[in-house]
Amino acid sequence: MMQQTEMIEKAKRAIEALNPGGPFNIMEVCGSHTMAISKFGLRQLLPKNIRLISGPGCPVCVTAQNEIDSVIELANKNVVIATFGDLIRVPGNRSSLQAERAAGKEVKVFYSPLDALKYAEENPSKEVVFIGIGFETTVPTVAVTIKEAREKNIKNYSVYCLHKTMPEALRALLEGGSNVQGFLLPGHVSAITGSKIYEFLPKEFGVGGVISGFEAMDILMSIIMLLKNYKNPAIEIQYKRVVRKEGNLEAQKIIEEIFEPCDSTWRGLGEIKGSGLKIRDKYKDFDAALKFDIRPIGEEIEIKGCRCGDVLKGNIYPNECPLFGRVCTPENPAGPCMVSSEGSCAAFYKYGA
Ligand code: SF4
Repeated sequence: MMQQTEMIEKAKRAIEALNPGGPFNIMEVCGSHTMAISKFGLRQLLPKNIRLISGPGCPVCVTAQNEIDSVIELANKNVVIATFGDLIRVPGNRSSLQAERAAGKEVKVFYSPLDALKYAEENPSKEVVFIGIGFETTVPTVAVTIKEAREKNIKNYSVYCLHKTMPEALRALLEGGSNVQGFLLPGHVSAITGSKIYEFLPKEFGVGGVISGFEAMDILMSIIMLLKNYKNPAIEIQYKRVVRKEGNLEAQKIIEEIFEPCDSTWRGLGEIKGSGLKIRDKYKDFDAALKFDIRPIGEEIEIKGCRCGDVLKGNIYPNECPLFGRVCTPENPAGPCMVSSEGSCAAFYKYGA
């Protein structure tokens, strides 16, 4: 059987043979791909003109500054904030959830929204608000909690919905003139959505995409597929062991039942029409935005000196930010791209540029 190093060598030669010559920027839009590319040192294997750049694929990183501020506002309303771990360290304009917790506010980290629902059920005297962030991957489980809360009549559980969806962000990037020749499309998101949601990329923008797995060879094979389709861009699935063209129909059904599209603000990209999700009227009793009269506060403001916006648009590599590794480190992060374990600044810091 061919060894991994031989396979990588072979893939490297195939990429060199297919090299179109001019600039070929491949953007990944998934935090797990960002980490894998850095961890396996894939950038170093490619010819100089084929660049791997990160896009808005890390859920914590794309959560807008004013959204973080509104979560902190919510923490001041005598509720238990239930959230994924990385979010608590992201600095807002005035504070962070971590600082609020140190000051006595109830902020609890859960690995799954289902655990947050269980906590609410076991603590009926407390108002538990789950902070719904992330893309199509996490949305179905959050939807299940809302449905289950309705079925079990759990009245002290609600969701502050800051979820975002991928296609409109890709459209906004390309309409904004991003210099991208191909996308490495997210494996986990696409397992839910299927591949059809990306078909506008080649049709409207002449840019192809490959839904990729997360091993080194998955990503290299996806790059080969992108290069092969250089002249006839298309959407293809490399990660066939998990992703089907039609996606997960059951998950799509529950998302559709509980949520509807809305506009959403992305860090670095601003407001993008139809790129977020809100809870449908039918389930409004579980919508923390209505229950506690909370919404993103004020205009989106970048953290001073932080270039996360440019990193998320693929305009710069993280180490081109003047704060990278000096003022901003994983121990003392200035921005979310260094906070999140899936952020591109954190990946560059951990594995080197
Ligand atoms: Fe922001 Fe830090 Fe990344 Fe610079 S290195 S873009 S300050 S997170």
